[in-house]
Amino acid sequence: MCAMKEGWETVIGLEIHAQLNTESKIFCGCSTRFGDEPNANTCPVCLGLPGALPVLNRRAVELGARAALALSLHVNERSIFARKNYFYPDLPKGYQISQYDQPFSERGELEILTAERDEGGRPREWRPMKVRITRLHLEEDAGKNVHEGLPDVDRYSYIDLNRAGTPLAEIVTEPDFRSSWEAYDYVNHVRRALQWVGASEADMEKGNLRCEANVSVRRIGDEKFGTKVELKNLNSVRFMQRAIEFEIERQIALIESGGRVTQETRLWDERAGETRVMRSKEEAHDYRYFPEPDLPPLMVSPEFIEGVKNSLPELPDVRRDRLMKEYELPFGDASHLVTDRALADYYEQAAAAALNPRAAANWLRSELLRELEAANQTIDQSPVPPAELGALVRLIDEGKISGKQGKEVLVEMFANGTGAAAVVAERGLVQVSDAGEIDAAIDEVMKSSPAQLEQYRAGKETLFGFFVGQVMKAMKGKGNPKVVNERLKEKLSA
Ligand code: ADP
Ligand code: MG
Ligand code: ZN
Repeated sequence: MCAMKEGWETVIGLEIHAQLNTESKIFCGCSTRFGDEPNANTCPVCLGLPGALPVLNRRAVELGARAALALSLHVNERSIFARKNYFYPDLPKGYQISQYDQPFSERGELEILTAERDEGGRPREWRPMKVRITRLHLEEDAGKNVHEGLPDVDRYSYIDLNRAGTPLAEIVTEPDFRSSWEAYDYVNHVRRALQWVGASEADMEKGNLRCEANVSVRRIGDEKFGTKVELKNLNSVRFMQRAIEFEIERQIALIESGGRVTQETRLWDERAGETRVMRSKEEAHDYRYFPEPDLPPLMVSPEFIEGVKNSLPELPDVRRDRLMKEYELPFGDASHLVTDRALADYYEQAAAAALNPRAAANWLRSELLRELEAANQTIDQSPVPPAELGALVRLIDEGKISGKQGKEVLVEMFANGTGAAAVVAERGLVQVSDAGEIDAAIDEVMKSSPAQLEQYRAGKETLFGFFVGQVMKAMKGKGNPKVVNERLKEKLSA
């Protein structure tokens, strides 16, 4: 999976832009809703009309703080907004309000879990990794250029400023990643953290989480980093991972054949499976940053941070450790359950109803999630509520139905939204564990198969399976297999 060539090392730094989940924009009261009529959600401030003044949205600061705390970052008591000057049609002011030398948060460290992957893309062994976070700052998004029609025929370009002024948190790392999978695990970690605390929807396909990967290679032992290339248009974490792999090979091949890497921005083309040059970056940008004169310094008090901290849910890693301890789950199970907060919530409710947390975890992870995946549904859309998954596990534990029957029952519960007990009753599935009833069936079978009985008693023990089969058949499959086995052993050798 990781085609790293011997003698080479990869260096990666990541920049993430996450849209903060506010209802209104960062410096005006316009709605951040998507899908509205182009330019419907605009006002003099986000249109960049002269004389209009920005006012900071408190909720954006709150969500920025939630994001920072979810990533174990410290928030600066004082930060400064700055103008980043550049011309772009979807940036009507001619500058973006961002933060520069005094950002919202800086010099953090985040611990993530990462793993190399085997040929099939499955993680080998998870290990902790420390990632240095250079900064997390607040800024506004630009609008969108929309192109329609065919080039040179009837091509029109439009500008939609609905997105202009949407609050973003930009999170930049030091060049700490040494493989595409480390980068992959980091982005997933950040995505989940932001979703978990409600700071951002963090959906890459919807574009409310955008990621840029800076990639370079160097020969092992070299002290200096190689020239980096910036990768864009990474619409999923998996695309990013593939783009990085492609880029590593391209750069190594280029250098080995005597060429050199140019500093540039390249776009990932998922269909072609390659990166392509978008623009050269040889000329360093000069954004002429300066402090935004229309906004006072952003002051965030320790009390404010304390309040945000107290309103946070139990964070994923803490919750994982608690699940392991409280329910005696293995690391892998617990890690899987905290990939999504709704999944962890579902699990704890199901475990409480099942009275058997390990079994509840197994049924949730292997059976229910498979049904959900096949139906393309998420856990909070599950037609099987957690209490019912728990009830199903209990029916199996109590020996009322077999595990195999349980799987069929779950499929029906999923399809019709019926409760576990109801499906079992409807189908007349209840398993017979009563020794008397089972003994009667065994007596019948022994009577009707005298030849096999004689052979068995003469030492042909392989015939045991034959008797199990016959008894189960006589009981129409409803015999509790464990009791049938026990009783048969006793009666056959009597
Ligand atoms: P730029 O000014 O081109 O945006 P920065 O120094 O701000 O460059 O870094 C942007 C990102 O690139 C950061 O995440 C940083 O860690 C990463 N980075 C910097 N140098 C390298 C390199 N040689 N190889 C890979 N990533 C790098
Ligand atoms: Mg950059
Ligand atoms: Zn506005």
